Amino acid sequence: MSEPRKPLIALDDALASLLAQVTPLAGTETLATAETRGRVLAADLVSPVDVPPADNSAMDGYALRAADAGALLPVTQRIPAGSVPAPLAAGEAARIFTGAQVPPGADTVVMQEHTELVDGQLRVTQPVSPGANVRLRGEDVRAGAVVLPAGTRLDAVSLGLAATAGAAQLTVTRRPRVAVFSTGDELVMPGEPLPPGAIYNSNRFTLRALLEGLGCEVVDLGIVPDNLAATRAALRDAASKADVILTSGGVSVGEEDHLRPAVQAEGRLDLWAIAIKPGKPFAYGRVGEAHFIGLPGNPVSSLVTFLVLVRPFLLKLQGATRLAPRGYRIPAGFDWPKPDKRREFLRVRLDEDSGLALFGNQSSGVLTSAFWADGLLDNPAGQAFAAGHAVRFIPFAELLS
Ligand code: AMP
Ligand code: MG
Repeated sequence: MSEPRKPLIALDDALASLLAQVTPLAGTETLATAETRGRVLAADLVSPVDVPPADNSAMDGYALRAADAGALLPVTQRIPAGSVPAPLAAGEAARIFTGAQVPPGADTVVMQEHTELVDGQLRVTQPVSPGANVRLRGEDVRAGAVVLPAGTRLDAVSLGLAATAGAAQLTVTRRPRVAVFSTGDELVMPGEPLPPGAIYNSNRFTLRALLEGLGCEVVDLGIVPDNLAATRAALRDAASKADVILTSGGVSVGEEDHLRPAVQAEGRLDLWAIAIKPGKPFAYGRVGEAHFIGLPGNPVSSLVTFLVLVRPFLLKLQGATRLAPRGYRIPAGFDWPKPDKRREFLRVRLDEDSGLALFGNQSSGVLTSAFWADGLLDNPAGQAFAAGHAVRFIPFAELLS
C-alpha cells in the first residue's frame, strides 16, 4: 500500500516541534564538584567570596607605594604566598612573591628584574606605574555574584570556576535514561564474522558515545530483528526502562521498516520528512511515558540528525539553556554550483589558508567523510555558492560535546 508523499518540513520547524514536546526532567542530585563534568547545573551558583579574596601580587618582586619609587627603600618584611602581611609604612618596601597578599599601604608591585639592592636597600631601576602587578580583590568574581547560571553544562572551565568560588558540591539535574536499539537484519556486531549480505553495526557505537557525551545514562538494547513482534517487544521493554527511546534504521516506508507500525501499535508516532540532506526520515512519538525518536539508518544521516535534532532535545530535557551550536562565517574553498533543494550539512575540513575544503564523497553511508571533517557546512536549501563565499560552518567541537 503506498502512501501520499509527505511534504518536507523545514529543519527549524521540526526542531521547534520537537523541543515543544520536552518538559525538563524533574529531580536533582547533589554531587562532589569533581563528579559533575558533563552534567547540567540545576540552580544558580552564587559565590560567597571575592575572588581573589584579597589584593595580591602577580609577580615575584617588591611591594611599595608608587610615590616612593624614586627613593632608596628599606625592605622591612618578606611576604611569601599564604602568609598575612603587616601594613607597609610610607618609605618602605616588602619582598613579595606571586600570589602573596599585598600589604595594606602598598599600591604597586615592582618585578624583581626592575630593581637592585644597594647596601640592603631597594632601588627601583625602571619607571613605575601605580597599581602595576597587583591583582585586585574581587576582580575575577565579586561575593554575591552568580558565577555559573542554572542550565550551565559543566565542563573543565566551569568546574574550575565553581571551585574558585569554594563550591565543594554542586546540584545538577537528573541524567536522562536513554534506551537505544538498532534495527536491521543485515547488522552484525564487530567481533562476529561478516556473512554475505551483512554489515557491521556502527550506529550502535556512534549513538552510544554521543549519548554518553551528553551526560545520558545509556540502556543498550542491542540489535532488534526486522519483524513486528520483536520490534514491539523491544519498544515495551525500552519504555519501561527509559525516559527516551532512540533507534536507528527502519523509519523509511519500506516493507521491512517495522518501527512505524510497531510504535503506532504501542503508542503514537509522527513520521517526518525533514528537508535536510543527509537525514530526511525522522520519527518522533511516545511509547507509554517515554519519548520515542527514530533516526535513519545510514550512518551519516543518523549522526547528522542526532546532532541537529536529538542533541538539543536531550539538552533541553536536562535543563540546559544553550541548545543551539554556534556557527561561524568562513569562506568556502570550493564551488557548490548544484545545491540540493533541501538544507545540506556538508562534511568539510577547516583549512587555515584556503577556507573550507569539501570531502569528495558526501554519501550518507560514508562515515569516513565525518571522520575526515572538522565540522559541518550548513548550507541553506537551494543555495549555490562559489569559492570565497562566506558560508556557515559548525565545528564538530561545538556538536560532539
Ligand atoms: P534503513 O534506515 O533501515 O533503511 O537503513 C538505511 C541504510 O543504513 C541501510 O544501508 C542499512 O544497512 C544502514 N544501516 C542501518 N542501520 C545501521 C547501523 N546500525 N549501522 C550501520 N549501518 C546501518
Ligand atoms: Mg533497515
